[in-house]
Parts: sequence; structure tokens; C-alpha cells
Amino acid sequence: VGVTRTPLIAGNWKMNLDHLQAVALVQKLHWTLKDAKHESDTVEVALFPPFTDLRTVQTLIDADKIPFALGGQDLSMHDAGAYTGEISGAFLAKLDCAYVIIGHSERREYHAESDEVVAAKVAAALKHGLRPVICVGETAADLEEFGASAVPVGQLQVALEGVSSDAEIVVAYEPVWAIGSGKAATPEQAQEVCAKLREVVADKLGADAAARTRVLYGGSVKSGNIASFLREPDVDGALVGGASLVADEFAAIIRFQK
Ligand code: PGA
Repeated sequence: VGVTRTPLIAGNWKMNLDHLQAVALVQKLHWTLKDAKHESDTVEVALFPPFTDLRTVQTLIDADKIPFALGGQDLSMHDAGAYTGEISGAFLAKLDCAYVIIGHSERREYHAESDEVVAAKVAAALKHGLRPVICVGETAADLEEFGASAVPVGQLQVALEGVSSDAEIVVAYEPVWAIGSGKAATPEQAQEVCAKLREVVADKLGADAAARTRVLYGGSVKSGNIASFLREPDVDGALVGGASLVADEFAAIIRFQK
């Protein structure tokens, strides 16, 4: 009752933009948004560049006092050691990352990340003071077979095993069939599943956590549909892929009007 959740607009760059291109995008984005008085008061913006861009982007937003939060696109479930190619949550925290995406469908599909691996990574993120952005969502085949909410609800239940009630987490509902397809869910579909995911948070972490946790929608979000999603009571922001790579378009998303 009476809880206001600051909308979170998250830009997942995936494997796009080297560190020089990253500088160009962040500067253009900041310039485009300079006169808008939305920033930091009413909307939180978080960028998720590739690991190799993080130091550069961190330095830039720090030097120019750009009000964007930073996050990694994945992390290791381990703290340190003989894990060639892995990135520890400790390293991300050291680069001022506030967030880390966990369990994106591309990780689940191409790197065989199970719900248990996702849960271990959520624990690792929280241990290092990072807020996990836990991604869940059904494939087109799941949708046919089980409807929209069963698979994401089950994924979130496992991901929240062992998470304490005071943990700061973000949940992202990303129907796999909507990612990069130009075929976004309808606001009503997004609302229905996001409300169910909030119930999972309530079951696992309690009512307070459910009231403050932001549940995002992701999958073909653009400037033309962002407002329709944010109008829904249980949709608290967006995880944006393709449209976060274009400064004008991502700025327009950040400036959405309900
Ligand atoms: P999209 O990707 O916005 O390009 O559909 C969303 C995501 O995968 O997070």
C-alpha cells in the first residue's frame, strides 16, 4: 500500500559495441537527455555493456557525473580461482556495478544455464553486493504447452531458493518469443505474468519484498510501446536489448510518459 517503485529502464547491449563505441553511445545518450528533468528523479537508468567495456564506461560516467547505473550481463557463481574465462561478482562490484543480469534466455539456451545455476549465480551476486536482475520467460513452445506464466513462475521459484527477505533483487519477465523478434507481448500479457511473478516474490520473500521489488518486462520494447507497458500496475520498467543500442531511441524510451 502506497509503495512507489522507481521505474528501471535497463539497456542490455548483449555482445555489441566495443569500448570505443561504448563511449560514443554513452556520451550521445547523456547529451540527448541533458535537458530532460526526468533523470534520477523519476526513472533509474542502468546500462549493461560487455565486460570489456565496463571499466571505460565506469570511468566516463564517474568523470562526467552521468546518472546511469552500471551492470554486468552475467557473472560466475564462484568468487575467484581456476575458472578460465569467468568473471567474478567481486570484480564487477569493484567496477561500481550495482546490478548484474542473471539467467538471460540467451545464457540459458547457448550456455545451458539451468535454474540451479541461475540460483547459484543469484547467491553469488548478492554475496558481492550486486542486485541480480533475474530473467525468466517462456519459449513459444512453452506458451503453447503450458500457457504464459507456468515456466517463468517455476524458474523464479528456483532462483529465489535461499534468498533472504531483505535482498534487493529485480525480476525481468522476458518471453523468449518476444526477444529480438519485433513481436512484443501485449501490455495485458505482460501485466498478467508480472503480477504472478510478484506473487512468487511475496511467497518466497514476503509482502514487503514483493511491494518494493521491481518487475520489468523485456522483449521488443521500443519508444513506441514503452508507455503502454509502464501503465500496467505490476510492470516497473523494461529490459531493452536492440533499442538500447541507438541513442535517440533509448533516450526516447527513458523519457516515456505514462
Ligand atoms: P530486445 O531484447 O529488446 O532486442 O527484444 C531484450 C532482451 O533480450 O533483454
